Amino acid sequence: GDELLERFPALDLVVGPDCYRELPDMLRSDSSACMTTFSGELYEGTSPVRTGFPRAYVTIMRGCDNNCTYCIVPSVRGREKSRTPERIIEEVRNLAETGYRDMTLLGQNVNSYQSGGVRFCDLLAMVAEAAGPAWVRFVTSHPRDLTAPVIDVMAAFPNTCRQLHLPVQSGDDGVLARMGRGYTRAWYMERVGMLRDAMPDIELSTDVMVGFPGESRKAYLATRSLLEEVRFDYAFLFRYSERPGTAAVAMDGGIPEEERLGRLRDIQEVQRGITLERSRAMEGRVLDVLVTGDSPRGGSQQAARTTGNRMVVMEGTRFPVGSIVSAVVEKADGWTHHCTPVGAPR
Ligand code: SF4
Repeated sequence: GDELLERFPALDLVVGPDCYRELPDMLRSDSSACMTTFSGELYEGTSPVRTGFPRAYVTIMRGCDNNCTYCIVPSVRGREKSRTPERIIEEVRNLAETGYRDMTLLGQNVNSYQSGGVRFCDLLAMVAEAAGPAWVRFVTSHPRDLTAPVIDVMAAFPNTCRQLHLPVQSGDDGVLARMGRGYTRAWYMERVGMLRDAMPDIELSTDVMVGFPGESRKAYLATRSLLEEVRFDYAFLFRYSERPGTAAVAMDGGIPEEERLGRLRDIQEVQRGITLERSRAMEGRVLDVLVTGDSPRGGSQQAARTTGNRMVVMEGTRFPVGSIVSAVVEKADGWTHHCTPVGAPR
């Protein structure tokens, strides 16, 4: 923080997220200031500005106690802090009462949620009940902390979406160890198996990083083969880039930028084909879709989302935003699905 003030003379204030309550006083003062300490700040008593009706994010925890060697989050967000279940349930009930139909529980690592004796699996069950007819999903899950009880709760409550984002990062055990991820390829594949056994129709997405220091060609190909084996519905693909202040910056075995880019392009190509294949498999199926508003493409289309978080467009419909309607997938075009309603909105 202090270094930022020195480097950029036009800057007056550097304020860390946990210090936001000090902002009014800091703004009233004439002097420049830096406040970046961490506290137990949980943002209670504040009401988030919501602009995404009928979809809402509900923060359940903040910070991260992990030490992934490429990640700056623990340094800038501090240690894990979980909100109390009472406050979370109150927020979920209020959202349900005001017509929100799709709620995402949010945290850097939701699976390590812990408040008193309440673990994430307990909280998920409580939220699924409090949400009434609304869909419930959560992000982000660390594969190491995804437990059988969480999967059991997902399977037991039909309003928890059959969808999970489970960042794998690499398919090679050596790279995973250097990343400090705390699991192996076999462990990850076992979680995928458990999820699919419990919910055969679950849709999975992931994050992948290629070109991490020390990633040999063989290690890269292991990641590629993992994508081919799991066949994720969607994947966010990145090439490694150095973040000052992280352990990975000091690692040997750096991969030249050209090679990182080449691996990224190659893996994008692989995943593009899989995403298309998974989307095309939806054609002809009747899905529940949540109407979210006008299509960003304009025209006479309405936009909607499936429980799997797939984007849907419907031609010429004028359903109330926030209603759920059954629709048949006529054509899947990458991640966008052209659907025709087959019933009345509810
Ligand atoms: Fe935490 Fe995720 Fe960053 Fe790892 S990648 S340190 S789990 S926030």
